[in-house]
Amino acid sequence: MLLELKSLSKRYAPATTAVAGVSLAIDAGEIVCLLGPSGCGKTTLLRLIAGLEQPDSGTVWFAGRQVTAVPPHQREFGMMFQDFALFPHKNVAANVAFGLQMHGWERPRIAARVAEMLALVELEELAQRDIAQLSGGEQQRVALARALAPGPRLLMLDEPLGALDRALRERLMLDLRRILQQVGVTAVYVTHDQMEAFAIADRVVVMNGGRIEQVAVPQALYARPATPFVARFLGFHNLLQGVVVELGLVETAVGRFTIPEANAPKGTAVTLLIPPDAAQITNYPLPGTHCQPAIVTALSFRGRYTQVWLRLNGVPLMFEQPTYPSWRIGQEVWLGLQLERILPL
Ligand code: ADP
Repeated sequence: MLLELKSLSKRYAPATTAVAGVSLAIDAGEIVCLLGPSGCGKTTLLRLIAGLEQPDSGTVWFAGRQVTAVPPHQREFGMMFQDFALFPHKNVAANVAFGLQMHGWERPRIAARVAEMLALVELEELAQRDIAQLSGGEQQRVALARALAPGPRLLMLDEPLGALDRALRERLMLDLRRILQQVGVTAVYVTHDQMEAFAIADRVVVMNGGRIEQVAVPQALYARPATPFVARFLGFHNLLQGVVVELGLVETAVGRFTIPEANAPKGTAVTLLIPPDAAQITNYPLPGTHCQPAIVTALSFRGRYTQVWLRLNGVPLMFEQPTYPSWRIGQEVWLGLQLERILPL
C-alpha cells in the first residue's frame, strides 16, 4: 500500500464537518476516484492528502511514513484542477517545462522530459503553439503533461474534465485512463459524475456527508450498491421499502418477494433494489410467470433505450426498454419482475 488515510476528520466551522472519520488505503499504481454529490467532502479529502489542509484528527501515511505535518511541496505530489491555470501566452513546451525549471532541472534534461511528455499526450506537433490557440481538450492534455512531468509520487486530479463539453469528456476519459496506466502513476481523482468514475477508476470511493459509503471496483459498485444512497447516486430509481416478514421473505407495497439474502430477523426494515432491466412489460399477462397489472405514467426517450415509468399499487417504478414502446399514458400493462435480480440493500 502506498497511501493510507487513518480516521481523517476535518471541520471548517463547528457546524460543518467536511470530512468525518475517513480511512482508506491506496496501492501503488492504483487509480482511485472519489465520487459523490457536491459538498460531500471530496475536495477537502484531496486537500488533506495534498497537505493543503491539516486534519483536526487522524493521520496521512505515504510509503510507510507519516506525512500529516509535511508541507505540500515536500510531499512531491502532482495536482491537476478543472481550472488548470496554464500560462496562456507561453507555448505548450514552455508550459510543460515550467515545473521542471522550478525544480532546478538542467536544460537538456528538461528538453528530453518535455519531449517525452508531449509524446505521451500526443501533442508533439503543437509544442511551439501558444496555449491561447489550443482547444479545450488540447489544453487539458497540456495540463496533464505538466502535472506528470516532474514524475510525482502521487497525482491528484480535481474534476479535470469538469469544464469540457460532453463529447470531448467522453474522449478524454479514455485518453486519461490510458495515460495514467501507461505512466503507472498512483492517482486520486475527484468527480461527481459516476460515468467518469466508472471509466477512469480501478476503484471508486463513494462519499456522502464527509463519510465513505462504499469502496468497490466499478463493476461491483454498479452490480451491488451497498446502500440506498449509493444506489440513488448511481441513478437507480426502483428502491422499495420493505420489511422482513419471515426469514428470506420481504413484504413491500408491490408484493412479497423471496430474497434468500434477506436473512435479517423478522420485522427488520430493508430496501430492495429492482434494476431497470429486471422486468418484462407486456400487453397481456404472460402465462406461467408472476406478473401484475401496472399503469403507464410516462415514457421518456433516451436514445438507446426508453424509460418506461409505471405505477403499481401507488409505487412509481422505472424500467428501460430497448425500443420506443407504443403504449399510451394511462394504459394498463403487465409487469413481470425477474425476482432473482432483486437486490436487498
Ligand atoms: P465537494 O468537493 O465534495 O464538493 P468540499 O470538500 O468542497 O465538497 O466541501 C465539503 C463541505 O465543507 C461543504 O459543506 C463545504 O461547504 C464545506 N467547505 C469546504 N471548504 C470550506 C472552507 N474553506 N470554509 C468553510 N467551509 C468549507
